Amino acid sequence: MGSMSGKTAVVTGGSRGIGRAICLELARRGANVVFSYAGNTAAAEKTLEELKALGVEARAVQGNVADPAAAKTLIDTAVKELGGIHILVNNAGITRDGLAMAMKEEDFDAVIETNLKGAFLCMKAAIRPMMKARYGRIVNMSSVVALRGNPGQVNYCASKAGLIGMTKSLAKEMGARGITVNAVAPGYISTDMTAALPDAARQAMLSTIPVGRAGNPEDVAAAVAFLASEEAGYITGQVLSVDGGMGM
Ligand code: NAP
Repeated sequence: MGSMSGKTAVVTGGSRGIGRAICLELARRGANVVFSYAGNTAAAEKTLEELKALGVEARAVQGNVADPAAAKTLIDTAVKELGGIHILVNNAGITRDGLAMAMKEEDFDAVIETNLKGAFLCMKAAIRPMMKARYGRIVNMSSVVALRGNPGQVNYCASKAGLIGMTKSLAKEMGARGITVNAVAPGYISTDMTAALPDAARQAMLSTIPVGRAGNPEDVAAAVAFLASEEAGYITGQVLSVDGGMGM
């Protein structure tokens, strides 16, 4: 895969987990990186240091992706300080699990606002500079559960399925402008998000994965880097599963 030198990437939720691995992978390929985080300053500072050690320009921007002003600030940081935005990875996401009959409305709203609206706001802010440059790669972080459903996750599954609809719609709007829009659907990936799962649930999940192991953040980062590359310019509106075969 060719170098990403001269490109600037924005990754939401880049301080930890999958987002961190994506930031590092894009930087290894030469891209400058701006990432956002919600509030874990220690993790963000560590990731920022690791990025700089790879010899690229990097910025960490604290802010809630669901806040329109914060989303705009994030994209503006790339455009004003690092010369543009060529790659946007909408990775930030949260869970607030619970069975539907007992789910609080605020937990439904928080997940939709962060996972779905946050991605919309960042895409909206990024589209104009990408259109001007007639170049862009947008990758949205969906999930294997978007298409299969999952008990206890009506809010999360709705947000991740919504991202697929948004991906395909924007791909159709932007196709003629040199901007591709794709989604990645990870399966069970070892991060802080899944660390809270009870042991029994983890074992049950592992038994459904044909490759026989949980994924790691680097597995997802490699797929994102491919879709974010120049070479992937004829791929748009697609959902790439990175799940060890779990979703088959
Ligand atoms: P994680 O370890 O919990 O990390 C979440 C990241 O998102 C952190 O950097 C966090 O920042 C940031 N974040 C959370 N809410 C935010 C907000 N409102 N505004 C800005 N940043 C915010 O999660 P992960 O497991 O890496 O998951 C990353 C993405 O992959 C999510 O969209 C998730 O739904 C998706 N996914 C994960 C799995 C899995 O098995 N892990 C499977 C399928 C899909 P702080 O560090 O400041 O908290």
